[in-house]
Amino acid sequence: MKPLSQLSREDARSVRVVLTDIDDTITTEGTLTASAYAALEQLHRAGFLVVPVTGRPAGWCDHIARMWPVDAVVGENGAFYFRYDRKQKKMHQHFWASRQERAQNRARLDQIEKEVLATIPGTALASDQDYRVADLAIDFCEDVPALPETEIDRIVAVFERAGAQAKVSSIHVNGWFGDYDKLSMAKALLADVFNIDWETAKRSVVFAGDSPNDEPMFAAFPLSVGVANVHAFAHRLKNKPAYITEGHSGDGFAELARILLEARDQQAQAANA
Ligand SMILES: [Mg+2]
Repeated sequence: MKPLSQLSREDARSVRVVLTDIDDTITTEGTLTASAYAALEQLHRAGFLVVPVTGRPAGWCDHIARMWPVDAVVGENGAFYFRYDRKQKKMHQHFWASRQERAQNRARLDQIEKEVLATIPGTALASDQDYRVADLAIDFCEDVPALPETEIDRIVAVFERAGAQAKVSSIHVNGWFGDYDKLSMAKALLADVFNIDWETAKRSVVFAGDSPNDEPMFAAFPLSVGVANVHAFAHRLKNKPAYITEGHSGDGFAELARILLEARDQQAQAANA
């Protein structure tokens, strides 16, 4: 992980799309700060495509797609993307699994939920579970006292024994049935909605994140950035981000935004000179 200050000007100028995790990447200690939100807004206004790629639930993502200064959102670790067309006043929703498949998966997730809560003391159902359509989120750190890593591993093991995928964010273990993750849905969104193929994406997309559930994105995108708190999870990451910010969480995201906006300003000045 190189310091983000070493990102070449050429690479910074090539960025057109900002994909970003939300928890502990844009938010800081559970709060969306004005400076991090302003960074999103400035990027969006400057013409970057801005897309949060999060483990958070469909209910939140409906709000984010509709009201935040973003172009779309990928939620529940890749179960769907939502995009609100402001001109047409229409919410476009694309899910990985059909409604019927999601209902069948829910019955299996309910069994996993029972097993985790009964056998691993200190866990809780994530408080945002009611707004989820495709996954099960077990809280190990958000509203419960932080559990040790051995317990996080036990939660993951329950999901995996049942044939589900499980990914660890900074606050929850999210598990689901289905062969998708943040990366596969982000690729689908880029191709379907923004007409950006994978070869183009590798040059024009930057991804920012902080946790193991961001690992598929760190591995795939050459321009991947960890905010400084990614250090806390580095030992759980086989694929680390290429760059790391100086600032933690939202400050780190604002640092990335500043670098991209400066590169774009310099480009505009050069074009006008
Ligand atoms: Mg995160």
